[in-house]
Amino acid sequence: MKSMDQIVSLCKRRGFLFQSSEIYGGIQGFWDYGPLGVELKRNLKEAWWHDMISGHNELVAPANAPGPFEMVGLDCTIIMHPQVWKCSGHYDLFHDHMVDCRESKKRYRFDQVRGRWVEYADRSQKIFVSTLADIETELDEVRRRAMKFFRLRNKDADKISISNESLTIDRLDSTKEVLAPDAKNLDTLTEPREFNLMFKTTLGALGGENDATFLRPETAQGIFVNFKNVLDSSRVKLPFGIGQVGKSFRNEITPRNFTFRSREFEQMEIEFFCHPDQSQVWYKYWRDRRMAWYTKLGLSSESLIMREHHQEELAHYSVGTADIEYAFPFLPEGEYGELEGIAHRGDFDLRSHMEGKLNPATRPMEVELGENGKAKYRGSGRDLTYRDEVTNEKFVPHVVEPSAGADRGVLAFLCEAYSEDKAPDEKGKMQTRTVMKLHPRLAPIKAAVFPLVKKDGMPEIAREIYGELKKHMNVFYDEKGAVGRRYRRQDEAGTPYCVTVDTESLNDKTVTIRDRDTLEQWRVKIDDVVTDLTSRIQ
Ligand code: ATP
Repeated sequence: MKSMDQIVSLCKRRGFLFQSSEIYGGIQGFWDYGPLGVELKRNLKEAWWHDMISGHNELVAPANAPGPFEMVGLDCTIIMHPQVWKCSGHYDLFHDHMVDCRESKKRYRFDQVRGRWVEYADRSQKIFVSTLADIETELDEVRRRAMKFFRLRNKDADKISISNESLTIDRLDSTKEVLAPDAKNLDTLTEPREFNLMFKTTLGALGGENDATFLRPETAQGIFVNFKNVLDSSRVKLPFGIGQVGKSFRNEITPRNFTFRSREFEQMEIEFFCHPDQSQVWYKYWRDRRMAWYTKLGLSSESLIMREHHQEELAHYSVGTADIEYAFPFLPEGEYGELEGIAHRGDFDLRSHMEGKLNPATRPMEVELGENGKAKYRGSGRDLTYRDEVTNEKFVPHVVEPSAGADRGVLAFLCEAYSEDKAPDEKGKMQTRTVMKLHPRLAPIKAAVFPLVKKDGMPEIAREIYGELKKHMNVFYDEKGAVGRRYRRQDEAGTPYCVTVDTESLNDKTVTIRDRDTLEQWRVKIDDVVTDLTSRIQ
């Protein structure tokens, strides 16, 4: 059984991850990637970029896809026009809630996942008062998130309903459970205050409220606002996807679980645009394809689930959402944490950025009108519709969004890779060894090259092999200490292959290659080392 402590300790010891600003005591929710970590994360992002964008062949339909499609990339700015966040809904809806207890002076935050007030920074997550209906504002978003939690915890629930007084769970066995607010405690609480998760900053030297802007909390909006630019400049035709990898920022009230919930993190997002009639088929396609991507790169299917959201959990505009979740070791048995969400977003985003007038029937959250009776936030007024060249039909495309977190991905692959087994030491005695069984595509170092001893011309040959390999992949050279210890270091770094120059190499110009996982060893001609290893790390 692997523990999170072992994984965290290995990450620090070997240079995968460090706490940001550690010499000053660290800063909560921020993490630095060390020499091995940065390679691992780059490899994950590059695998994603290659497999989803640059390596995509638009001329043939991939397996299980309803047809061929195009994929292109974007790299947008972190700070965007403030109106972007108003029209996207983040300005009004992307927040947590806080209250203070007048008696104890303690502060509580509304845990949207649990649907409860929890003591701020209380690690035990002790429940103080219920229920979500205490919050009158933004109930829709809170309710959606709370539903996610209650559904997970109440797998036998037939129906979950929320009123202003209580939360009721009707179970499949016809029993009913009512969770009511604790009125006594409520008396002592201040009014709930909203706490927006977006980091605010100011533009320019004067920095008044009018210059306020935000660090993006997701990369997706950069794609939506560039939809027309991409259409006009690259001549892509529907269906097509735009991908982006980049930093996002959320001022999470309780960052925790190592990098799982950070305040600065990276996302890998695709917005896939298609005809409304085809959107359900594409939604299913992306859901399955993204799940298969994780297993192909080594996450075990027993630790992964695809969790389709129930109707009540869905945002009002969403037709379907599924989360790919992983059984992270810090979670209790049977619980999973989100790695990626695949959402069918309808035409919500393009419409929000397009229209000045909003339709209250389909857009309940924007019924709120400004003083002049007009919608509170106006879109760009630009035409973001698509005209089909063949049928001449004009429509707002529907969007399927596979949205993944690079840091959560790295964390899942680190957790999955961590293993302990028995391997013989120099004297043939079986010892416990710690090994990171990372997929060769993800491994930070692909191969290590060792001279068996530091004499007889072995280092010279090893350095030459190292130089040749370096032209093709990230390789490590090590001539210090017993060779067994050098192997162990590479096992902990997740290096899939070790190349050793020994006495035989001097006579027959061959070297030994050792496989990290099977410990199998074989001999290869020095001239063939590059080809042998290149084919193995694909
Ligand atoms: P959660 O419910 O865990 O807060 P979310 O549903 O808000 O996540 P999305 O807005 O769908 O997450 O973001 C897409 C992806 O971005 C997530 O699946 C996750 O991998 C990543 N992500 C979101 N928030 C964080 C965070 N605070 N730290 C690290 N990764 C994050």
